[in-house]
Amino acid sequence: MNTSTIEPIPAFADNYIWLLTQGKRAAVVDPGDPAPVLDALRARHLQLAAILVTHHHGDHVGGVSALAAPGVPVYGPAGEDIPCRTHALVEGDAIDVLGTRFTVLDVPGHTRGHIAYYAAELDALFCGDTLFAAGCGRLFEGTPAQMLASLTKLAALPPATRVYCAHEYTLANLHFARAVEPDNAALAARSERCAALRARGTPTVPSTLAEERKTNPFLRGEVAAVRAAAERIDAGAAASPVATFAALRAWKNRFS
Ligand code: ZN
Ligand code: FE
Repeated sequence: MNTSTIEPIPAFADNYIWLLTQGKRAAVVDPGDPAPVLDALRARHLQLAAILVTHHHGDHVGGVSALAAPGVPVYGPAGEDIPCRTHALVEGDAIDVLGTRFTVLDVPGHTRGHIAYYAAELDALFCGDTLFAAGCGRLFEGTPAQMLASLTKLAALPPATRVYCAHEYTLANLHFARAVEPDNAALAARSERCAALRARGTPTVPSTLAEERKTNPFLRGEVAAVRAAAERIDAGAAASPVATFAALRAWKNRFS
């Protein structure tokens, strides 16, 4: 294990840019804004060694041009336009970041070319806007079937995997999750825990995949209570896993 720290740099209203360090070398994931990254690098005398991007949205790539420099690889999905990209990645590719091996997973749905980065030796998954704590990304470019397949792929990683997603959407996601599963005790406990964290201004992420499997409705379409809730909102939603997922995602879009 080489990377020694992983921590969030808050950006915009609710983004997290993940900062990885190894000694005085650093990497960032999805730097939507260069300013807080440059501040963090300067304050700690870190040298930027790599930039990782999960998808093309501005709140994830907006800082890339300002941070890119000769000798600093910019990793990004092969299927999308990423500024200054030096390495175009697809599923199965492996990269070395600060001495740690990261493998690439294709996770289309939020966008068509979205990728995720998984480091087995760190138990760490950087999944951008695909899997969120207690939720999932909106389907801007992909289909429900694609997104469900992507989430299922991520959920199959080891339970101890920490989920480093790119937004602090957890409380709103939990609010929706509780409407889907009012009788899920693990979910009620997670809501209380996360509300207390946010009241202190503490990030609720990373979570673990074990926690997501117990409380994230978008990973729980096979659970009878979740299927039944989807069916009550949208007749026919219980017919297939994709129909259940599509109904949940549409319900969440309307939910407030
Ligand atoms: Zn996005
Ligand atoms: Fe985003």
